Amino acid sequence: MAASSCLLRVEEIGGKGRGVVAAQPLKAGQTLLTESPLIVYSASPLFSSPPFKHCHHCFTIIPSHTINPPSCPSCSHHLFCSQTCLNSSSHSPWACKALTSLTNSTPLQQQPQERQVQARFVVAAHDLLLHTPSHINMLLSLQGTPDAAIIDAANFLHSLISPLFPPHSQLSADLVAQLMAKDRLNSFCLMHPYSPHGPQRSIKAYTVYAKASLFNHSCLPNACRFDYVDTSEEHNTDIVVRLVEDVPEGKEVCISYIRVGRDYCTRKRILMEDYGFTCECDRCKIEASWGSQGEKENNDLPHVRFLRKHVCEKENCAGTMAPLPPPSHVLECNFCGNFKTHCDTP
Ligand SMILES: [Zn+2]
Ligand SMILES: [Zn+2]
Ligand SMILES: [Zn+2]
Ligand SMILES: [Zn+2]
Repeated sequence: MAASSCLLRVEEIGGKGRGVVAAQPLKAGQTLLTESPLIVYSASPLFSSPPFKHCHHCFTIIPSHTINPPSCPSCSHHLFCSQTCLNSSSHSPWACKALTSLTNSTPLQQQPQERQVQARFVVAAHDLLLHTPSHINMLLSLQGTPDAAIIDAANFLHSLISPLFPPHSQLSADLVAQLMAKDRLNSFCLMHPYSPHGPQRSIKAYTVYAKASLFNHSCLPNACRFDYVDTSEEHNTDIVVRLVEDVPEGKEVCISYIRVGRDYCTRKRILMEDYGFTCECDRCKIEASWGSQGEKENNDLPHVRFLRKHVCEKENCAGTMAPLPPPSHVLECNFCGNFKTHCDTP
């Protein structure tokens, strides 16, 4: 792990494949990793407009009062927050041509909405092969094997998209399926801004990171991920992983793939549907045996105390609260950005 090689090491973890363990005693709030994505693509289905206008390079929201934000000179419907983003965008002339052609594709329009987002990934992957082929190899080194549904989707999208790229940057149907499987298992979401009373935050983009994808899941995570997509100016699609609590050397470092405040049945369903596994962490083992009143009866369990301290209480949130880098006593929510001062009394 480049920037953090002395903090973490990758090991085989019994029953889980590879995972990340602490290579030395680590402190709550410590930053373990800051990493730029291998690939970023919009989560908006091709045939509908997103709820907010966002920059197609950095994915920050373009304020509604902005008059004539810079747009792609060819297609004009891909907007950017600045000329710099327009110039450094991965929206290359090839990607532009492919996306424009796909928005006129009747066969794609007849497919489920999910396919339109997958089409954006396949276009972005072709573009990556054209501009940053090393990222394709890094994506292929991640975990994930295509199942029958992914192979079908890949065959369909490959026949539609590969011919839209120059011959030297066409991916085979098999590679498209491999890449889609890696994306499905390893992608992170960049979300629209949180609002306490608004609708659930929707996803504005998907990203895949080479190192961050090595962290296994736990519903009682000792680390959590942050992004500052709407607040930082440079590298705003980077992922930052910070420790929730102290971790001794040799212990596995896990993040939660879903919001930590969600109940057992919801977690079980999402982890199976989106990641294809059943979580067997300590919290799941205990909560599997709870009745509807269980939580109240088991108030003294260490994990209930953990959740009381580390689940954000803001309405509509349920994100994870992790300390700011030491020696801070302030906890930051990784979902809504709320801060609270640490208090050890239960
Ligand atoms: Zn931008
Ligand atoms: Zn364009
Ligand atoms: Zn679990
Ligand atoms: Zn929150």
